[in-house]
Amino acid sequence: MGEEILIVGSGASGMVVAKELAERGRGNDVKVVEAGPYAQSENAIKYYERILSQQRIEIARALCVGGTTLVTAGNGPRSLEKELKSIGINLEQEFSELEREIGIKPVPENCYGEGTKKLVDASAELGYEAVPMPKVIDFDKCMSCRRKPCGECVFGCPTDAKWTAASWVEELTRKGVTILPDTKVEKVIIENGRARGVSVNGKEKISYCHRISRDLQ
Ligand SMILES: Cc1cc2nc3c(=O)[nH]c(=O)nc-3n(C[C@H](O)[C@H](O)[C@H](O)COP(=O)(O)OP(=O)(O)OC[C@H]3O[C@@H](n4cnc5c(N)ncnc54)[C@H](O)[C@@H]3O)c2cc1C
Repeated sequence: MGEEILIVGSGASGMVVAKELAERGRGNDVKVVEAGPYAQSENAIKYYERILSQQRIEIARALCVGGTTLVTAGNGPRSLEKELKSIGINLEQEFSELEREIGIKPVPENCYGEGTKKLVDASAELGYEAVPMPKVIDFDKCMSCRRKPCGECVFGCPTDAKWTAASWVEELTRKGVTILPDTKVEKVIIENGRARGVSVNGKEKISYCHRISRDLQ
């Protein structure tokens, strides 16, 4: 029998870990504990939370199944590819896999807004080539909204055209992963230097947590 694996948070990171485990046949061992509820992509703005870092920098995030991926701008450029290559880390394979997996493609020209067109023209006049942003957006769906991109990605996509981690819920559930919404972790239980489980607030959740904790032993 496999050991149980508890993942806290169903955002970009948590769901990727859950998916990788499910693809290795460990789905039935995985529980994803999520503080927020299931949310409709178009209502994602309701789940925004702003917190202050110790340096008083405001950090925005979304507390719901799929996490902050519901309110991203949908940008998917390769991050620090050249810099990493220059120190001997070649992520070409990983970038390509991700781009295939979540459908990252450059913004097609027919989706450029007036501002973007002006920027492209001005860049050309100055001798620069403007490169379209790779987006994790299905532009056919996106255009079905108002026949042009609405620009509301960061409030929650009204047509579900943008990839979010919540779009994996069905597949993960089918592969045996349990997703527990409305379950906020308050504390990680550490025994002998190892994380053994979590505790959550409120009576009902505490007993539930004990169960999770016991299951993990
Ligand atoms: C407005 C905005 C636009 C962005 N646009 C882009 C973009 O275009 N491209 C891009 O690559 N990135 C973008 N980002 C950044 C991107 O969203 C984050 O980097 C990414 O979502 C981080 O993943 P994560 O799993 O660490 O956190 P999250 O996606 O925030 O997931 C964390 C999850 O954990 C849950 N959680 C938190 N605390 C607890 C707890 N105590 N118990 C249980 N569950 C808990 C939360 O509810 C959430 O579901 C944007 C971010 C914002 C705010």
